[in-house]
Amino acid sequence: MSGMLDGMNGLSTKSALLVNGLRKLLFPPACLFCRQPMESGDVAQGCCTGCFEHIHIWPTAVCLHCGKPMPDGMPPGPCGSCLSHPPAQSRTLNLYAYAGPVRDAVLEWKLQGREAGVRWLLSAAMPRLAHEISPDTLLLPVPMPLSRMRKSGQHHAANLCRWMADELGCAWQWQLLRRRGEQPRQSSLSGAARRKNLCNAFLLANDQGVNVEHYSSICIVDDIMTTGATLHYAARACRKSGVPVSVLSLARTLHRR
Ligand SMILES: [Zn+2]
Ligand SMILES: [Zn+2]
Repeated sequence: MSGMLDGMNGLSTKSALLVNGLRKLLFPPACLFCRQPMESGDVAQGCCTGCFEHIHIWPTAVCLHCGKPMPDGMPPGPCGSCLSHPPAQSRTLNLYAYAGPVRDAVLEWKLQGREAGVRWLLSAAMPRLAHEISPDTLLLPVPMPLSRMRKSGQHHAANLCRWMADELGCAWQWQLLRRRGEQPRQSSLSGAARRKNLCNAFLLANDQGVNVEHYSSICIVDDIMTTGATLHYAARACRKSGVPVSVLSLARTLHRR
């Protein structure tokens, strides 16, 4: 009986290999970023060599407070601007530069709902995240104005928190950090106008049955970091809890707009 089953298993394995081979022939695996068919020597699991080479990982030699790259040869520590004007967060972690395939993947996710590229990027960064974020961290997404959430049907920063929490074993909560009211879209404003608009925009609520003091730290998560003003003011609202606050972006623009 067992011999017969072994034979059947062998047959099903052979069939599966045949089906997989046919599938590859008919539908060659395409790169998640550029959609071009991938060569067998390409980077495994969804990203072609060309796109892989254009993914810019955010440098690790950065100012701890604001996350900006430090000039070569500078000792670790706060940068000149953080010495005089430190941001509200004690730590900034950026995973990628917002450029090339990373920018394409984020835009596809936000505008067309295709999350595969972003999921790949997050999953590739998971070993670093596991090293940087302890399981007793509370992840909070930067809140999205209700009008925009209704329009897109998505809360992108909350999705990032959920995916990270699943992998890292952290808690996350999307209703704790809130906006006080509807705000003009940040991307339409200049740097100074953004700061004015954001100054009192955020509130850390205490009506969700979550005791933030139970966590070793709060990490505020956003998809794209541009000037850092949004994350700074969101961190300022959370810092009132007395729990150390860090911020994290999936991608950060290389230059201030
Ligand atoms: Zn590609
Ligand atoms: Zn700095």
